[in-house]
Amino acid sequence: MQPLTNKAQAVSRQPMTFWERLYLINIIKGMMITFSHMFKKQPTTRYPEEKRPFSPVFRGLHVLNRDEEGRERCTACGLCAVACPAEAITMEAAERLEGEENLYREEKYAAKYEINMLRCIFCGLCEEACPKDAIYLSETFAPANYTRKGFIYGKSDLLIPNPTTEATDLALARGVEA
Ligand code: SF4
Ligand code: SF4
Repeated sequence: MQPLTNKAQAVSRQPMTFWERLYLINIIKGMMITFSHMFKKQPTTRYPEEKRPFSPVFRGLHVLNRDEEGRERCTACGLCAVACPAEAITMEAAERLEGEENLYREEKYAAKYEINMLRCIFCGLCEEACPKDAIYLSETFAPANYTRKGFIYGKSDLLIPNPTTEATDLALARGVEA
């Protein structure tokens, strides 16, 4: 049969010599390559003991923000959910009752707010769309989980600690030494 290219090479059918059958030289060559890597700079990061610095434009896990008095900023307007290309955000709005002014900044608030981290593509459009500075993407990421349900983050997972009552937790969440 006519070959398509002239790259084909005839394989030598010579029987292996004694030294070739021992594979000793090849094993030594391989060990030398392995040994030489011990003196090279390691390209890997030993996570979780070592953490790689993120890029300044890194977009990680979402945080629901509070104002300086510790009130939730979100007014459940739904703009983030509309802007989300992955349809990862769901929420239920509720009206603020009398006496709840210290909890919610606006007259309407999100009674339920969920983000499905398995759908999210961390594009940051929700942050861009929010008129109340109520959501932003932090410099952490969603940790591994065993169940799909574990990746649906509710308000308790997303809300930033209250600056008036949980100052230490807030400092930790912001990565500042308390
Ligand atoms: S980061 Fe993008 S994909 Fe994720 S919830 Fe926000 S808008 Fe949706
Ligand atoms: S996070 Fe912002 S955009 Fe989304 S519902 Fe709350 S206020 Fe509206």
